[in-house]
Amino acid sequence: MDNGEHCCVKVAVHIRPLIGDERLQNCKECVTVVPGKPQVQIGAHSFTFDHVYGGTGSPSSAMFEECVAPLVDGLFQGYNATVLAYGQTGSGKTYTMGTGCRDGSHTGLIPQVMNALFSKIDALKHQAEFQLRVSFIEILKEEVRDLLDSNGVQIPGKPPVQIREGSNGVITLSGSTEIGVSTQKEMTGCLEQGSLNRATGSTNMNNQSSRSHAIFMITLEQMRKLGPISTADSAPIGDITDDYLCAKLHLVDLAGSERAKRTGSDGLRFKEGVHINKGLLALGNVISALGDEKKRKEGAHVPYRDSKLTRLLQDSLGGNSRTVMIACISPADINAEETLNTLKYANRAR
Ligand code: ADP
Ligand code: MG
Repeated sequence: MDNGEHCCVKVAVHIRPLIGDERLQNCKECVTVVPGKPQVQIGAHSFTFDHVYGGTGSPSSAMFEECVAPLVDGLFQGYNATVLAYGQTGSGKTYTMGTGCRDGSHTGLIPQVMNALFSKIDALKHQAEFQLRVSFIEILKEEVRDLLDSNGVQIPGKPPVQIREGSNGVITLSGSTEIGVSTQKEMTGCLEQGSLNRATGSTNMNNQSSRSHAIFMITLEQMRKLGPISTADSAPIGDITDDYLCAKLHLVDLAGSERAKRTGSDGLRFKEGVHINKGLLALGNVISALGDEKKRKEGAHVPYRDSKLTRLLQDSLGGNSRTVMIACISPADINAEETLNTLKYANRAR
């Protein structure tokens, strides 16, 4: 990602295996991976991405190392970052991110982020002092909810969480819980608590499905102790200089990307669907504006303000920040239409 290229969004595809229901229905696989290439084919369509995992592509274990570990490293240099899991309900977003509470045994991206973060802090603790803070929120119907509220439920009358933009362009949340953590166990506790609190509702497709965007935010602050350095290869520094850096990582389990019409019969669900599409639509527009180098050079408008999701991520998408989108797909023929939609959306991001 640093080969001097301007592209600020990396896109990977994660193909999960056929799952129980699909096997029971005798589904056939309709997605193929071109051997040795990050290229997927569905019907007459072919798409090339930065990486393809699952299927007959490279194993999922490579996903963290190739897509996310560089973002964790970047945090230590002060770069904000965002990882987005996109796809229809049931495509594996929650599994990929590790924001679920059902399969605690498997290792999603967030637990791997924690491993990397804490081992790096441990390795660097002589050079710097580190502080970590965690927030976990969700955006449902264009409202931001705190998932770390100790009650687990929103107290009626409690003011909703607000997204604020400082004069320096830094985005902050007001009214949401931010927990200082010093161990991996504490951070895991936050992930688990928030995952339990996450609003779920039943739809025709998957009754555990979430129609909200869930965002696990890690803030890393460091005070570097550049004390008198005596290594041979660095110029001696006379004065003790303290160097402060702060960066945020957003790990986003997006709402299901399926069309509202497929999710439900009643008006309420449909309304939620419409709102969800608003966030995903705005995200798609922001990412494609960022990826369009010509437009960017002309200083084209990036429509961050069109949804809560993009406002919240404004300082962590584009600019100096690093973004990875993981498009999650089912290989089953019954999902071919939504899979094609997902691949098209992800293709726009490149
Ligand atoms: P989403 O969050 O997109 O709705 P889930 O992450 O809940 O989808 O995945 C749907 C189902 O598929 C779950 O039962 C999950 O355990 C399973 N699944 C998802 N991805 C994989 C994978 N890579 N390997 C095995 N099972 C998976
Ligand atoms: Mg999910």
